[in-house]
Amino acid sequence: MVVVMNLSAGPEHIAAVKERLEQNGFEIHMIRGVKRLVIGAVGDRQVIDSLGLEAMPGVERVVPIMKPYKLVSREAKGENTLVKVKDVVIGGRELVVIAGPCAVESREQLLNTARSVRRAGARMLRGGAFKPRTSPYSFQGLQVEGLKLLAEASAETGLATVTEVVDEASLELAMEYVDMVQVGARNMQNFSLLRMVGRSAKPVLLKRGLSATVEEWLMAAEYIVSEGNENVVLCERGIRTFENATRNTLDLSAVPLVKELSHLPVIVDPSHATGNRRLVAPVSRAAVAVGADGLIIEVHPDPARALSDGPQSLTPEEFDSLTKQLGTVAAAVGREFSRGE
Ligand code: PEP
Ligand code: MN
Repeated sequence: MVVVMNLSAGPEHIAAVKERLEQNGFEIHMIRGVKRLVIGAVGDRQVIDSLGLEAMPGVERVVPIMKPYKLVSREAKGENTLVKVKDVVIGGRELVVIAGPCAVESREQLLNTARSVRRAGARMLRGGAFKPRTSPYSFQGLQVEGLKLLAEASAETGLATVTEVVDEASLELAMEYVDMVQVGARNMQNFSLLRMVGRSAKPVLLKRGLSATVEEWLMAAEYIVSEGNENVVLCERGIRTFENATRNTLDLSAVPLVKELSHLPVIVDPSHATGNRRLVAPVSRAAVAVGADGLIIEVHPDPARALSDGPQSLTPEEFDSLTKQLGTVAAAVGREFSRGE
């Protein structure tokens, strides 16, 4: 359930409600909106009515939440959550474009990519340093060397950075060097990793699992938020279906659906969704049209030589022509995208 406090509720009213809930065995989560405070309380539904919460000073209403995910649900918070990554806000009016290579491969590769995606209007740089590859024989990433290069590219270009973490050690290292951490599709139900990033102070990009339902995906987000980290951005990156003409099947309808079910921002990854660079631009336009808050796109200066995901990586020139189209589509759905020219 959530207890919505009214606009005039003071700290003493909030403390009294909190105390009554805790005394009755509820776990409390404060959800701060722009205007009002909502107290999320997880516990025994049967006893809610006997607590007399609605009569307490400062309480506007008590709303039971039937869905299995509570804190990330729209019922818990009507307004959209804005996730701040350095100076970038995800979930507001501005469409945020994140771009960069699948994996950080070298200083030259990363810095060249960072400079070109920045010129084309990207606000954030992506790059994997710890790659969870299907084969143990594939390139596994430059690890801490890769993180250092991300920090260097960020210092030079001003782009905020995001990288995938796969365990406690990589999370600890990433905390030092990047602005946002990614939980990849393969780890979406790695509950100990979810709890770890939930206890960290970095915003989290949570990819949808390979075969995860929308509910399972939101439950994964609930793990993170329930540990105290509300800065979660969801990323639809395609799911497994019988169709194998594309790498995955992009579930575009999940974008408006999840925005209805949850207050968290949702972005789309057209690169992993399609696995095919020719499809990245049209699918990006479609994602913006259905209301995605951003895009995460793989870009490589020489895709034919990329150590991972070359076939789905755009060249800097292709990325540049894609971002030129985004302003118009964004404007058509009431959003903004500017290349900063
Ligand atoms: C990636 O972003 O490079 C990646 C591995 O993505 P996903 O977890 O969506 O497959
Ligand atoms: Mn990739």
